[in-house]
Amino acid sequence: MPEKHSEVSEIKDHNTEHTAVPREIWMNEAWGPPPRSRDVALESKADSPKKLQDIEVENGNKTGKVSDEFNQRTAKIINALPEDVKQLLRSKNVKVVSAPGFDVPAPPGALGVFDDRTNTVTISERAHEGKPEEVLSATAYHEVGHALDGLVLSESSDAKFQKALEADRKALSLAMKRSLVDYMSKNQDAYAESFAESFAYRQVERTGGKIPDQFLKLFQHTITYMRKKYP
Ligand SMILES: [Zn+2]
Repeated sequence: MPEKHSEVSEIKDHNTEHTAVPREIWMNEAWGPPPRSRDVALESKADSPKKLQDIEVENGNKTGKVSDEFNQRTAKIINALPEDVKQLLRSKNVKVVSAPGFDVPAPPGALGVFDDRTNTVTISERAHEGKPEEVLSATAYHEVGHALDGLVLSESSDAKFQKALEADRKALSLAMKRSLVDYMSKNQDAYAESFAESFAYRQVERTGGKIPDQFLKLFQHTITYMRKKYP
């Protein structure tokens, strides 16, 4: 639907404090509350003039189907992404699926998964039950980050990205380092998770949402890198 502006119109800011909800196993309160306060009006800024077809979000996998409502919510969130990101997804034929659960191995508590063997991002409805809408956006953009990093960007292995991340890591308190211990190491998995997370928050920001204050404070070099890379 080319003329219909894709917007996350259902998302409202209830001005309530949400408690942090684990996204993947590494997510914890250290990262602050999930982003809030989406402003739909800001979205048009991110859209380039040549708006292409919406990205389809498939309903269901081997674990079954989801409600149309959840499928449409996920599709709105994916299509709220700026065109540059959507074009990368299209160019690599990344499949996005909303499903009750995962038909590939996933870490306990995972809200979304990217499977690089099938180029598929899966967002779990079950895992998002009772969670604020903002968590759904952050999950979707995090998995999109993994997809693009793995398929086209390779940014988590980029020296500039790693330099920015290391600058932030170095400045973390000992307690914070300990709480994020699995993600502090200088291995590719930890870099990929950090990339996906900061990519997600930058896309949240680009679609009119807000980066959690604490993440912004603790990962300012990384976010500065992301803002430059994804203006
Ligand atoms: Zn991840």
